[in-house]
Amino acid sequence: MGFQPRFHDKPKVTFLGAAGTVTGSMHLLEWRNFRFLFDCGMEKDRKPGPREAEFPFDPALIDAVFLSHDHSDHCGKLPLLEHLGFRGQIYCTAPSKDFLSLVLRDTVRIQQQEARTRHASSPANQHDAFTLLDRCVTLDYGKTHEVRHDVKLRFHDACHLLGSAVTELELGSEGESFRIVYSGDLGRRSLPFLPVPQPLPPADLLICESTYGGKIHDSPATMAAKLHEVLSDTIRRGGKALIPAFSLGRTQLLLHYLDTWMEEGKIPDLPIYLDSPLAVEIGRVHHRHRGRLAVNWNTFPDRLTVLESWDEAQAASFSPDPCILVASGGMCEGGRIISHLKNHLDDPRTSIILVSFQAPGTLGAKLLEKKPSVFFQGRSWNKWAEVHEIKGFSGHADHDDFLALLGPTKNSTRAIRLVHGEPESARALAKGLTEHGFHNVKPVKKGESFTL
Ligand SMILES: [Zn+2]
Repeated sequence: MGFQPRFHDKPKVTFLGAAGTVTGSMHLLEWRNFRFLFDCGMEKDRKPGPREAEFPFDPALIDAVFLSHDHSDHCGKLPLLEHLGFRGQIYCTAPSKDFLSLVLRDTVRIQQQEARTRHASSPANQHDAFTLLDRCVTLDYGKTHEVRHDVKLRFHDACHLLGSAVTELELGSEGESFRIVYSGDLGRRSLPFLPVPQPLPPADLLICESTYGGKIHDSPATMAAKLHEVLSDTIRRGGKALIPAFSLGRTQLLLHYLDTWMEEGKIPDLPIYLDSPLAVEIGRVHHRHRGRLAVNWNTFPDRLTVLESWDEAQAASFSPDPCILVASGGMCEGGRIISHLKNHLDDPRTSIILVSFQAPGTLGAKLLEKKPSVFFQGRSWNKWAEVHEIKGFSGHADHDDFLALLGPTKNSTRAIRLVHGEPESARALAKGLTEHGFHNVKPVKKGESFTL
């Protein structure tokens, strides 16, 4: 593979993904004769190349992966890593392990489908996704685990997703030691679905996400008020509200708030249909670990109907009365939402409510453009439905959250490298943290290294 392992006296971190962008999180730590990965995520718009080009290292030489959470941009390349020879441990929390089996099965299925449409073969298969689960080591938050006698690992609750973790590594011993903290994706203080995130530990190097650097989220009260207006208008027209949502995390958060706000009379009371088999399975994992949530978790509220089959989904889609249809496909690039869009996009009574970030070029982003038609699935469709965006359901820290969660360590954290953010967001956060009193804060470039 052309990769020659070297002995590194000082820890060296190379930023291999999520640099100047928000997908493909993967950072390589080399120290002495160990090689570890922080996450192993899939890039958006990945063009599979020759096997040697998939990883700029030999997967067989990686000792362990520290997995922050199970969104595919953080874990989606694990089956490929396995396929190409990785045989080390994967450290994660117990809910993360439960999600991982569901998410990787789905990820591999989608990759194989995509490969078939390109008349190519998909290198990773379900067997790869399955075998790596046997080597997951699950840790509780706050407990110290000796990965090696001179490598101590601790997870803290990142509060971004059930089971998500901030990774704290202590390398070395009394004589010379280094502390590296990797934020993964950080949660919010003001959307009380998960516990409130706590300040990060101090570090010699903090690798921190920056997705919403420079931005402030809408409050839950603002979101409920907007949703009230959109749903009231939809009911008046006798239409349906279609909500595309990512299956892991976003759907559960959304269903919880829809149910709670209906219960509290903050939004109109409507039947809710869920068309996402993966979200249903993920909801069951939430139920298994419900003690870790900050809310009373009810897997299927009374007003929710789970649509099991295609026929049930179509019957709900064409039912005469107003309702809310939550379906898989956060950016409308695939998933169950597609058939509902085909059924209702040309119906002016319909509201499409987007609750996730819509990356440029995706169908979700095209729906937001002020054009009378939209092209997808090989043809042009009349876009006569109303399209709304409700921001604020994000599971990511905003600018104020970052300052609050990092602030207490401004005198003890020596260097910060910003990942997982568009360049503008990463720059805004670097500026904010520097003004706050932090030193040596920089956004990273792909392939760049930092030696402690
Ligand atoms: Zn995430």
